[in-house]
Amino acid sequence: MSVPSPVPSVVGAAAASEVLAELGRLRDEDPPTHGGRVLSYVYDPGDAALDELAAEAVRLFLPVNGLDPTTFRSVATLERDLVALAREVLHGGDDVVGSVTSGGTESCLLAVKSARDVWRAEDPARAQARPRLVAPTTAHPAFHKAAAYLDLDLVSVPVDPATGTFDADRLLAEVDDRTALVVVSAPSYPFGVLDPVAQVAAGAAERGVACHVDACLGGWVLPWWGEPGERALPRWDLAVPGVTSMSADLHKYGYAPKGASVVLYRGRERHLAQYFVTSAWPGYPVVNPTVLGSRAAGPMAAAWAITRTLGTEGFARLVARTRRATRVLVDAGEQIEGLRVVGRPEGPLVALAADDAAPAGRRVDPFLLVDAVRRRGFLLQAQPALTQDDGTRLPRTAHLTVTPVTERVADELVQALRAGADEVRGMPPAAPDPTLAERVLAEGLPEDLAVVMATVEALPPEVKHPVLAQVLQGAVDPSRA
Ligand SMILES: *Cc1c(COP(=O)(O)O)cnc(C)c1O
Repeated sequence: MSVPSPVPSVVGAAAASEVLAELGRLRDEDPPTHGGRVLSYVYDPGDAALDELAAEAVRLFLPVNGLDPTTFRSVATLERDLVALAREVLHGGDDVVGSVTSGGTESCLLAVKSARDVWRAEDPARAQARPRLVAPTTAHPAFHKAAAYLDLDLVSVPVDPATGTFDADRLLAEVDDRTALVVVSAPSYPFGVLDPVAQVAAGAAERGVACHVDACLGGWVLPWWGEPGERALPRWDLAVPGVTSMSADLHKYGYAPKGASVVLYRGRERHLAQYFVTSAWPGYPVVNPTVLGSRAAGPMAAAWAITRTLGTEGFARLVARTRRATRVLVDAGEQIEGLRVVGRPEGPLVALAADDAAPAGRRVDPFLLVDAVRRRGFLLQAQPALTQDDGTRLPRTAHLTVTPVTERVADELVQALRAGADEVRGMPPAAPDPTLAERVLAEGLPEDLAVVMATVEALPPEVKHPVLAQVLQGAVDPSRA
């Protein structure tokens, strides 16, 4: 039997110019990352000079390996400076230390690992025990992933469908002696509302339990959110007693390219509990502060360069723009007949739900709205409804992540929202299609996603999870694409 050669026989070499042209054509098929037309995933400061600066910083640090800061001292300096800045902005004292990671998911994962290992080390009886992680249903899925990877039981505490957040006592009631960590968000991604950080942190501290504030989204925007003379935000950062760790993504409102976040801990022991060290191999001694081995230094260098050129005044200026745009969009969301804004967003996120107070014939289905607004040139994000453990149901929503550049297109976006809502108002909400899964697997995703999202929303997890994974797998399967 002949074994196929592992080396393809005809991979022709191409000229660099052709290859680059091809990359350019691939990028042309993507939605625009700049200009405010995509209201999720990308964070555009609306400043071409900042983009150039980031690109140049990445270029300088492209060949460097952040794996070993004793060899590449430059990386240690960048990381120390970024941790120092984050600590200052987030009001941590000298006892606050941390790391730069590849992103929010890694920051959250590490915070969970640290809490788990500190909890286990506190009592020999816990050495092999499986701890619990208590978080509201709005906590980022990075914590579901962390619980799955690191063997914790996740307890999901329902939030109030009207406000999108919860009463601290309700969450604290779930804290028991197996609980290693509670998580709150500042703000939560789905609805953009601020959790009761101070109350939860105080209750957690009383019970000797760690408390992580997930400020992946808010960490580089909320510090400048308030305006003089206005009601200040409730306290949410490291100045709050009982907060033991915090995550803040540089690749969101720090405007760095993807691959940069900060995780901070109160106490050097907690930070050390995140490290992995081994000498049980015949190679170099391994000391990994984060999940990765070899580490890109480019995003870190870009984050360093951007934060240094912006300074706190620069951040304040960009946040003011973001905030004005958010205000305009929240007002529009409240005024458009058949829609409502979920909760009271405190930060740059807006979630639009159908207005239950309106008669069914005047409501606007968020999934239909997303398609209608896409046809008008703006990409919103559809968020499916969720039935919580107590039976209450969080509504399906259309989600907007507002960035500084949104201000420039805010009027046009409001027009698109109004016209889109007019188009679909009173139409029956998008309904699931039981035959869809097979069709999508065979033909790929359709343009309009309302029915896809309604189907995803309706299917039980044991059915939809494997299908979703297969759809995404199919996208990168060389034998199928
Ligand atoms: C984005 C985000 C994360 C995860 O971050 P990634 O950078 O996408 O890995 C975690 N929590 C919140 C609140 C976020 O918005």
